[in-house]
Amino acid sequence: MRPFQYARPATLAEAVALLEAYGPEARLLAGGTDLVVRLRDGTARPSVVIDVKRIAELRPAIRQVGGHLVISAGTVMTDVAEDEQVRRHFPALVEAAEVVGSVQIRNRATLAGNVCNASPAADTAPPLLVYGAEAVACGTAGTRRIGLDEFFVRSGETTLRQGEMLTAIELPLPARRMGAAHLRRTRRRGHDLASVTLCCGVDEGGVTRLAYGSVGPRPVLVVDESGTLADPAAAAEAKAAIFERMFASASPSPRSMRASPEYRLAMLRVLGARALATAIARLAGRERP
Ligand SMILES: Cc1cc2nc3c(=O)[nH]c(=O)nc-3n(C[C@H](O)[C@H](O)[C@H](O)COP(=O)(O)OP(=O)(O)OC[C@H]3O[C@@H](n4cnc5c(N)ncnc54)[C@H](O)[C@@H]3O)c2cc1C
Repeated sequence: MRPFQYARPATLAEAVALLEAYGPEARLLAGGTDLVVRLRDGTARPSVVIDVKRIAELRPAIRQVGGHLVISAGTVMTDVAEDEQVRRHFPALVEAAEVVGSVQIRNRATLAGNVCNASPAADTAPPLLVYGAEAVACGTAGTRRIGLDEFFVRSGETTLRQGEMLTAIELPLPARRMGAAHLRRTRRRGHDLASVTLCCGVDEGGVTRLAYGSVGPRPVLVVDESGTLADPAAAAEAKAAIFERMFASASPSPRSMRASPEYRLAMLRVLGARALATAIARLAGRERP
């Protein structure tokens, strides 16, 4: 591990000033479950690590503000999975948070860190995309909101600008009733990154939102507004054709050690069909998350 300086700012302004001063030489540390691994294996070699855990504005909190649920950047997976409001409005996010790593990992790993790490396999990315989440970014130029679909670029790269950091993730409270389900496929039981991670949401207007990850450089969101997928009476061929269009952006790497492209693409279809069926059942009240 290359030696680095360690900073522990108490305010957002101090953290932003440090980011500005050190530029690409700085790395933020939240739970450290991704970053510490990378510091150890030398794939991250910052000259300063800025620990965000003491920043007052990022303190763990989940609160309703206007029509949004705001999850602060210091909030860990365990808190996301146990929060009453998240459970009521965003059950598929709970399902995703509950499968991240192990109990120990979930007690350290932040939701914001999962998003900022920008792994294509990040489990919370598909439900956040389905629920229309936004990342709240803060820098010297002020605060801006970035729709998650515009946030991910490729593995490890986001549209955060130099000197910006995430302060929160905001989820709009659903305007329509929605049934949603998150599913994933791993190589083995126990903690492992997903070979496919997927979320499907169907709302009472017949709109189907499907998001999937670990099958390309970034998580993908696709929306079907035709009502066909949500319609139990629609022809199987019509549904299959829509599904094929929705999966067209999947491009799994042939170099991954986790699963072959053929396997991932096959599993994407299996999980997609299962998540759709579960989402429809939940919307109809036939199944509880
Ligand atoms: C054993 C193990 C199992 C795991 N299993 C899973 C799994 O099943 N599913 C899954 O999705 N992930 C898994 N992970 C990955 C990891 O736990 C998650 O991605 C976690 O949510 C990262 O959060 P963190 O707070 O630890 O982030 P950190 O490691 O602290 O940071 C991650 C990245 O985000 C940046 N960052 C952090 N906070 C901010 C901020 N506020 N603003 C801007 N940038 C920021 C950091 O600079 C860094 O680049 C696993 C990791 C381990 C070690």
